[in-house]
Amino acid sequence: MNTLTNADLHCHSVVSDGTLTPEVLAQRAKDNGVELWALTDHDELGGQERALQAARALGLPYLTGVEISVTFAQITVHIVGLGMDHHHPALLEGLRTTRGGREERARDMAAGLAQVGIQGAYEGALKYVGNPDLISRAHFARHLVESGVCSDVGEVFRKFLTEGKPGFVPHRWAGLGDAVRWITQSGGMAVIAHPGRYALNATGEYALFTEFKTHGGQGVEVMTGAHNQADFVKYAGYCQEFDLLASRGSDFHSPEESRCDLGSLPHLPGSVTPVWEMLQTRIHR
Ligand code: AMP
Ligand code: MN
Ligand code: MN
Ligand code: MN
Repeated sequence: MNTLTNADLHCHSVVSDGTLTPEVLAQRAKDNGVELWALTDHDELGGQERALQAARALGLPYLTGVEISVTFAQITVHIVGLGMDHHHPALLEGLRTTRGGREERARDMAAGLAQVGIQGAYEGALKYVGNPDLISRAHFARHLVESGVCSDVGEVFRKFLTEGKPGFVPHRWAGLGDAVRWITQSGGMAVIAHPGRYALNATGEYALFTEFKTHGGQGVEVMTGAHNQADFVKYAGYCQEFDLLASRGSDFHSPEESRCDLGSLPHLPGSVTPVWEMLQTRIHR
């Protein structure tokens, strides 16, 4: 395994805000030529056993995964965990507390939307929820598209679900140090997800990377569906600057919504060391 391995270490199932089951995702990964796969549902490990069994049946090497919502410097950042023991009590408890509050947040989001004339959004979003513990903005977005309020999910986020918009509710997620420790204490590696997506200036980004390293974080997503060519180059450079391993993951959610399919990203550049070089003993075969 090297930088040319077709690894896809970031995607979502119906256990969080994806639209496919872990089994269908495993088959899609295999069909698309993925050679190492991880399912990384938001704040939740409920799909891990299914993903692992499905991957094993297909002869697809698998790493356990999760994507933890974190509040850092007043904004939300995502930390991916790879290769954890998915039965580890401290990790399970940390994720349980991180999920708590989503329900109330969703009701507040619906109240905000009702104020601009969109009634019944909570009930509407629930129709898309596979896991009652994990109602997400993505479910609201699907409902608002289906009910004709917007023409695609991107428009819903721009008009209704981002900072300052009627359906946006500020929320406090896990701490950066806590998230990194839950992952590392359960035997996994912490990875900064899609850094190019955050509203951080150079100083904020430096603070994120520095603190992440201090807490024991080891990797960063260089190739992700959210990055453009300039981001690929920039974050490959950060691997050198911050001595981080590089990860690769589509962040695939749905055939209808995701631009980047499983296994379809460009390879990692030869200048970086892939996260999977340090995760060999954690791979389920
Ligand atoms: P939440 O965890 O409830 O705040 O929802 C975040 C999720 O919403 C992300 O993981 C994405 O799946 C989705 N999302 C966020 N921003 C956008 C966007 N601009 N367009 C489409 N989906 C988005
Ligand atoms: Mn998502
Ligand atoms: Mn994310
Ligand atoms: Mn994701």
